[in-house]
Amino acid sequence: MAYETTNPSTGERVETFPMHTPAEVESALATADALFHSDWCQGDIEPRLTVLTRLSELMIERSTELAGLMSLEMGKLTSEAEDEVKLCAGIAAYYAENAADLLKPQPCETDMGEAWVEHRPVGVLMAVEPWNFPIYQLIRVIGPAIAVGNPVLFKHAGIVPQCAAAFEALVRDAGAPEGACTNLFISSDTVSELIGDPRIQGVALTGSEGAGSVVGARASEMLKKSTLELGGSDVFVVLDDADIEKAAKEGASARLSNAGQACTAAKRFIVQAAVADAFTEAFTREIKGYVLGDPTDPATTLAPMSSQSAVDDLAEQVAKAVDQGATLLFGGKPADRPGFFFEAGVLTDITPDNPVYAQELFGPVAQLYVVADDDAVVALANDSPYGLGGSIYSGDTDRARKLASRIETGMVFINTPTSSRPELPFGGIKRSGYGRELGSLGIMEFVNKKLVVIA
Ligand code: NDP
Repeated sequence: MAYETTNPSTGERVETFPMHTPAEVESALATADALFHSDWCQGDIEPRLTVLTRLSELMIERSTELAGLMSLEMGKLTSEAEDEVKLCAGIAAYYAENAADLLKPQPCETDMGEAWVEHRPVGVLMAVEPWNFPIYQLIRVIGPAIAVGNPVLFKHAGIVPQCAAAFEALVRDAGAPEGACTNLFISSDTVSELIGDPRIQGVALTGSEGAGSVVGARASEMLKKSTLELGGSDVFVVLDDADIEKAAKEGASARLSNAGQACTAAKRFIVQAAVADAFTEAFTREIKGYVLGDPTDPATTLAPMSSQSAVDDLAEQVAKAVDQGATLLFGGKPADRPGFFFEAGVLTDITPDNPVYAQELFGPVAQLYVVADDDAVVALANDSPYGLGGSIYSGDTDRARKLASRIETGMVFINTPTSSRPELPFGGIKRSGYGRELGSLGIMEFVNKKLVVIA
């Protein structure tokens, strides 16, 4: 896999980057490991929190440059890219402000004497990250790692090399020592070798089930802890007492933002029969209102997809779904223009034997289902290999709260689309992976919870 910048708006290759050599990879690992044994990682937390504070400021200062790189390399709308940078700055600031408290020793009651659990770094982490939120995916792992004192080597997706390099420069310029956060342009085979090295002590991956399965298996084989944040096919439930206009507007946005390429995008719309016609009409109107175009043009509201293969894969899924009896209400096909543009669409009449029923659509095509009652909502929502997030729209929050508890996912949001905030734990169950990122749970994933007892 080459590291290449290709502009999704034009389809033109812009620049290719060489892979790191085996000697460079070894040097990066040795530097990170030496840092782990130094006072920077083992000593007082304050210098590390100072770096996170500066990192947060630098992200805002470089917002235009970072947003430009995201638009250039994976086609993100400028407004969405700027929002991503703000969220990332918020994550760095959150850990700068809260990590000392989150990591403070916890006393344990025991008749042995005095006892506590302290939170120590574990060693160098390997992070494997995807292109869809090129800065956010990195800070989710690297922010808490800096606070804890775990150096990170990261392998970013092949299509976002300049975002990867810009992130590494940000952390360095924020004052982190060499080895704290290192970008590697490496193959999957090198990732596997690194996971086998005793100097690596944890592995975090966000991406596809295929990559998660390979990397998670390798981590298990080498007895290393891993976190996996994989795909999802989140439900967007519209109950018969929901505010239909709000649900349609926010549902369209939840499906189409980032050109539909988010693990927590709303993918399966489950609508109760009493409001199905009204919702379908309003949802169709909202989706048709989106304007496909250049992501840097402020008039554009629907970005291109990230790559030609992403367009081809989605087109094939939609074609197979229709072939197996689904109805495509409109759109749902590659746009007739250069670049990686895809027309938003809605699929309905999807039966359980249709392959798309159990698939994630990683692009701007919604699945629409109509069901009778609350039990049918739960049955359909849970009949999925995935279990990441989901939303429920209802005028009755007690009713929605009961349904939320019955839906088998890692996250449920009521009357708002699934989203990510620095203080909220993010992650899933089933084939959506395991472990949590962000918030108080995220920072504890790669921490030695060390018991100390004084008799
Ligand atoms: P991948 O899972 O292939 O890529 C994610 C990261 O994993 C990239 O850095 C990739 O590197 C790396 N990778 C892939 N295979 C391996 C491996 N065997 N060993 C080590 N690293 C590996 O995602 P894609 O970009 O191919 O997207 C395809 C699908 O993945 C989407 O349709 C969606 O279902 C899912 N996805 C989910 C995301 C999420 O946020 N949960 C984000 C992106 C994708 P490289 O780019 O060099 O191949």
